[in-house]
Parts: sequence; structure tokens; C-alpha cells
Amino acid sequence: MKKASIVSIGNELLNGQTVDTNTTYLSGQLLTIGVPVVSSYTIGDDMDAIVRAFNLASNDANIVIATGGLGPTDDDLTRQGFANFLGTELELQNELLDKIQNFFAKRNLQMSERNKIQAYIPAGARPLANPLGTAPGIMAEAEDKLIVALPGVPSEMKQMFAESVLPELQRFAGTQAVVVRKLRCFGTGESNIAELLGSLMQRGRNPLINCTVEYGVITLHIIATAEDKNKARQMAEKKEKSLRNTLGELVYGTGEQTLAEVVGEKLARQKMTIAVAESCTGGTLAKLLTDIPGASRYFTHGWVTYSNTAKTTELGVPADLIEKYGAVSEQVAQAMACGARKKARTDFAIGITGIAGPAGATEQKPIGLVYITVDSDDGCNTKHCLFPHDRQFIRLRAAQTALNMLRLELNI
Ligand code: AMP
Ligand code: MG
Repeated sequence: MKKASIVSIGNELLNGQTVDTNTTYLSGQLLTIGVPVVSSYTIGDDMDAIVRAFNLASNDANIVIATGGLGPTDDDLTRQGFANFLGTELELQNELLDKIQNFFAKRNLQMSERNKIQAYIPAGARPLANPLGTAPGIMAEAEDKLIVALPGVPSEMKQMFAESVLPELQRFAGTQAVVVRKLRCFGTGESNIAELLGSLMQRGRNPLINCTVEYGVITLHIIATAEDKNKARQMAEKKEKSLRNTLGELVYGTGEQTLAEVVGEKLARQKMTIAVAESCTGGTLAKLLTDIPGASRYFTHGWVTYSNTAKTTELGVPADLIEKYGAVSEQVAQAMACGARKKARTDFAIGITGIAGPAGATEQKPIGLVYITVDSDDGCNTKHCLFPHDRQFIRLRAAQTALNMLRLELNI
């Protein structure tokens, strides 16, 4: 199986000026044709570093794609570095020179002598047309390797990759179809998911399972590679079924689905309504729910009752309850949810109260302590949570956890 390595060249990538989006783009593109990227190197505009990176990359993989350093200025050294790596000299290509001269002439611009350097490429290599700029790309086949250098400017790089490199790669690497399916999970940690899946997550398998985490949402990427799309799709579907069997209710959705979207669909389908009463999340839960188009079918009210007085006057939380147990307590979360449901006359109501920090913690009530209640005809279901990290994380995690509690109630 052919593999690829990516080399990103430019001082701006090493000093925090420019984010290396080229590697992300190329890795994604290569994945779609079944060529895994096994390594990437980011280096500055330095001749020795360029030759070294080309050597390392071509040791790692049969396909090397470099971007950057093909401009006309003195810091653009990829052309010469490429020639040094191949052990050849740069050669003037008259056809290229004509093209570059035409590029300027068409735009009524004076071509600088410097641009002439872009008409030179390593002997034995071939140029790749650049319809958007003056820097041609370079492609060379050495032994069983395919080495490509593309401009750094993302728009030029992408166009050249699609038009000149992809067809060549398909010839060189053969065509393989890749299907990626995403399974979204919530309700446990990454390590627990890995434990549940056991050998299913082993490297080198096909389909391969990759795992990413964001604000408590764990995404399992199922990557299936086969001779054709149908076969790859079947393999991915079969793997999805077995993951679902293992993970059960931890799986809430697929693709780009959010918890709010899934909960919204369930509420709409079951013709149920929801109201929320929030303290520490400050409206985050209401926002997540109403971010979904059509939320008016099920979302009726949202209160942000931040002060004790607001909890009492707006939701009818008894003042002596707050006095006795504190605003951050199971009892107050329940009273908020019940009060909200009564006022809104909904099927469900959620109450959230907690300490998002950085101030406000006590010995008994640390930062990250959050009580969440879902109230329905079946009574109150309250969760006592202790979230890590900072204010932003705690607030979003609390809102997401509330959505997940509601999702599980709607599953019944
Ligand atoms: P160059 O081809 O080296 O002259 O690069 C031209 C411009 O493209 C740079 O100034 C950056 O703004 C951008 N660029 C270069 N490499 C990358 C990269 N890996 N990811 C995103 N942008 C890049
Ligand atoms: Mg550069």
C-alpha cells in the first residue's frame, strides 16, 4: 500500500505567523483516495533542513508532497533543495519562461528578473502548471517514489493538487475507495470507550477506528478502505453496527449531529415540550436548544435566574430552601426544574445550578460542582456532577450533560 509524507516549508510556519492549513488539507485529500499520511515535517526556509526533510519523508513513504518556498525571493529555497535531494542541477525550461512572461504581459505588468528563477526546475523533473500564479509546481519520480513540490499559497496549492497531482497519484497509488463514518458518543470518558472497544481500536485494522474528543463529545471515526466505494461503505456500516452494539446508549448520533439536534428531533417526533431554568450556565442550554432551526416546535421558555431573588420570584424556589441547602444544591436544582415546568406547562423542564468559578468555591462546594435536574411526569431525575477545567468548559459541559440526560429520558 502506498503511503505519503508531507513537508511544509516556511519560516512563517515556525514563528506563529501562519497556521499550517496545507498539511490538514492534503491529509484529508489523501485519505479520500486511500493513501494514509504517515508523517509530516514542518521546517523553515533553510537549504539543509529542506534536503534533510525530503530525505526523511522519502524514507517514511513512497509519496512526498512538499508545499512552500517556490516563490521568486531569496528565502524561497525549495527548488534548489529539491535538486540537491535528487542529486541534479536546476535547468532552465524555456516553455516555463514563456508562460511566466505571458502571465505578466497579460496583466500589463513588468516582469522582474527575479521571476526568471521560477522557470528553473531540477533536471529530470517536470513542471506542474499554476493557473493562479507564477510559481510552477515540480514533480519527480525517483526509484519507486513520487516527489512533489507545490506553492505555499493555499488557493494555488489546492488548485494544482486537484488538477495535476490527484490524477497522477491515482495512477501511481492505484485507486482505492475510502468511506469515513462518524459515530458521536456522550456520557463517558475516552479511556472508558477505548476499554469497551478493546481490540476494535487496534492500529493497522481496516476499518480503522480513530477517536477525538471535544467538550465531552467523543467522536469515533470509522475509516474503511476497499477496492470500490460500495465495498468500503458495507465495511463501514458493518463496523458501525458492532460499535453500536458494544456502546449502546453512549452513542447519540452520527456525522455532524449535535446533542441538541438529536434531542430536538426526539422532542418534535414525540410532540413533547421543554423549558429550562439556568443559573451557572447563563443561558447556554437555551442557546444550544434554540440554535436548531425549528426549535419553536418544542422549546417554550428559558429563564436565567442568576440571583437567589430571581430563583424565588421567577420560579417559586422557596427562600428557606436556598437558605438551608445553598443555591448550589440538589434541592434547589429540583425546585428550579419543578418551578419552571409548572410555569411553562411543558412536558419536561431542566434546572441547572452550579459553581463555574474561578471564584465562589467553598470546602464543601468546589469549582465545577453542578446539579442538573430533569423534571417530567415521571418525577425528578437529578445528577450531581463535578466538571474539571475552566469556567467556559464547565458551563458548556453542564449544558451538554443536561441535553444528554434529556436524550436518555426520551429514549424510554
Ligand atoms: P511560499 O510559497 O513559501 O512563498 O508561501 C506563500 C504564502 O503561503 C506564505 O506567506 C503563507 O502565507 C502561505 N503558506 C505557506 N505555507 C503554508 C502552509 N503550510 N499552510 C498555510 N499557508 C501557507
Ligand atoms: Mg515561503
